Amino acid sequence: MSKPLLLLDVDGVLNPFAAPPGRMPQGFRQHLMRPRAWIAQHPHLLETDVEDLPVWLNADHGAELLDLPYDLVWATTWEDDSNRFIGPVIGLPALPVITWSAPHAYPPDGTYFKTADIVRYAAGRPFAWVDDQLGPADRDYVARHHPGPALLYDTDPETGLGLDDFEALARWAGNLTTQV
Ligand SMILES: [Mg+2]
Repeated sequence: MSKPLLLLDVDGVLNPFAAPPGRMPQGFRQHLMRPRAWIAQHPHLLETDVEDLPVWLNADHGAELLDLPYDLVWATTWEDDSNRFIGPVIGLPALPVITWSAPHAYPPDGTYFKTADIVRYAAGRPFAWVDDQLGPADRDYVARHHPGPALLYDTDPETGLGLDDFEALARWAGNLTTQV
């Protein structure tokens, strides 16, 4: 049986960007980055005038993710820039990337702009989707449109992924294999 997919967001998951000043969880270091999605948020500035984006990352996360019984996929507005900027810092190889059909355009049904694309990408394959912006409309959409098992796993953007989360994700994938 093939492994389930682990669909990974960056901001709020690997990067606890909302941690209060001085309260960054242990093990994280700040990096200054210039992803295209960040530059695009400053259309009124020349690209050279856009300040670097501070990004907090935990160098252990790559190995911890690779240890999980999943196939990893980027599911972030960083799109392919996560392979350029994030993967090398935390020790991940280049991963497949989901590209968004309408980034930041929120559908009228209240779902996140990623949700329909996530379900389309998974194409029925079991997946865990790790993101800090999941809501009831997304759970409902996945339940109605995705025929296989799915875990919508919400993270706190103040802390990002922690040990408990890795354990929960491993447990969910483990339960899948025993069910089949
Ligand atoms: Mg996020």
